[in-house]
Amino acid sequence: MPHSATRAVVVGAGIIGLATACRLAESGYEVTVIERNGRPGAGSSQGNGGQLLFDRISAMGSPAFLRALPQSLLDPAQGIRLRGLAHPSRWPWAVRFLGQSSRARWQRNTESMLALAHLSREAFDAFRTRHEIAFDWRRPGKLVTYATPKGLEAAARAAAFQGQFGGRHEIVPPEACFDLEPALARTTRPIAGAVYLPDAEVGDCHLCCRELARILQVKLGGTILFNTAVTGLEGANGRIAGLRCGDHVIGGDVFVITAGMAAGALLPRRFAGRKPMVGVLGLSLTYPVGPNPPDLSVTDAGGRFVIARLGNRLRVAGGAMFSDNLSIDAGEVRTLRSKAEALMPQAARFQDDPETWIGARPQTPDDLPMIGRATGANLFVNAGHGSLGWTLAFGSAERLLHAVSEGS
Ligand SMILES: Cc1cc2nc3c(=O)[nH]c(=O)nc-3n(C[C@H](O)[C@H](O)[C@H](O)COP(=O)(O)OP(=O)(O)OC[C@H]3O[C@@H](n4cnc5c(N)ncnc54)[C@H](O)[C@@H]3O)c2cc1C
Repeated sequence: MPHSATRAVVVGAGIIGLATACRLAESGYEVTVIERNGRPGAGSSQGNGGQLLFDRISAMGSPAFLRALPQSLLDPAQGIRLRGLAHPSRWPWAVRFLGQSSRARWQRNTESMLALAHLSREAFDAFRTRHEIAFDWRRPGKLVTYATPKGLEAAARAAAFQGQFGGRHEIVPPEACFDLEPALARTTRPIAGAVYLPDAEVGDCHLCCRELARILQVKLGGTILFNTAVTGLEGANGRIAGLRCGDHVIGGDVFVITAGMAAGALLPRRFAGRKPMVGVLGLSLTYPVGPNPPDLSVTDAGGRFVIARLGNRLRVAGGAMFSDNLSIDAGEVRTLRSKAEALMPQAARFQDDPETWIGARPQTPDDLPMIGRATGANLFVNAGHGSLGWTLAFGSAERLLHAVSEGS
């Protein structure tokens, strides 16, 4: 517990910043969050796939990912767009990503991600016993379907490795998929079988951000300064004295950069744990549910998209585009919609115009976020959570809190 006047300033009101801010405030810090947007969760945390996948997560860099790339490129419907990697600014990331794609590195990185995910589940569950949060949370379980027996065999091998660290899974044949999730019965997508994860959870990350902002301000005495952009750091002799926001400076004792994709621009150029980050863009479509909505969340591994019911809405998310261009392409929307409709024709009112959203996964080469001291005595970072920031948020907040308590 810090002495009562320790002021912590957190940059960014996404899921990582808000989870961090709430845990710092619960631990006795006087917390201010600075957010350039006018509301919480308006960045990458807004329209994500809603998966809280604590047991079967996998680092992106792997021999399997590299082997699947040529096929992904030949099949534009998978939504993988690598063109942006040709830009020199992304080369340092690409070189380090290739270095993380051996089997040994995949195993090591996956094991580290799972440890953080398990901590996250524990910390999030504990937080929810202290504070009521309404965010369309459910624990319905999940199916990850594979189009071919070969794909399913590879997935079974990966699940066996992940299973060593805990969590339940089952490899199930196609007919069991239809029993477990009747909304799949009319599918026209190929299904050779699935990995069934009975404990997988879903929830709306944006609603959770709003709830965390409320809890921080109303229950924990924190402050959020919206419409305020941090433009630089002020300090001397290895200590940060304040954050420059246009023509004024916001002071504090401890500073935490949780600015998602923008973290790199705010952090010092060199510190031991710094990693390059790229934005891997993905799209989501949100529909009102149809006559036969799913209970389970379903990932179509071949089509690289996920479907989850959030309350009375159906969220479809997919695509992986290496780009900074956040404009939504109508063709990509049509492709994602038609894959989802083929998987579960009556799950949503697919004839309606969906709520469309595009966001960036802040991706490091090894898929592991930067959490801890950035440089000097009082500057910390919690950023780079890639495709799993929603899942990893509360474990990351716990680790950051530990680093701050040790180091401030
Ligand atoms: C299509 C898609 C699907 C996904 N699906 C899932 C999923 O199913 N499960 C899962 O676990 N994860 C998923 N993710 C990943 C997850 O959404 C991200 O990892 C997570 O939202 C990152 O949170 P963040 O708080 O780091 O970033 P953000 O939410 O982007 O928050 C950063 C905040 O910092 C603010 N900011 C930036 N710069 C400044 C500045 N200079 N001054 C003040 N404020 C600033 C921004 O405005 C923003 O609000 C998905 C991502 C995408 C794109």
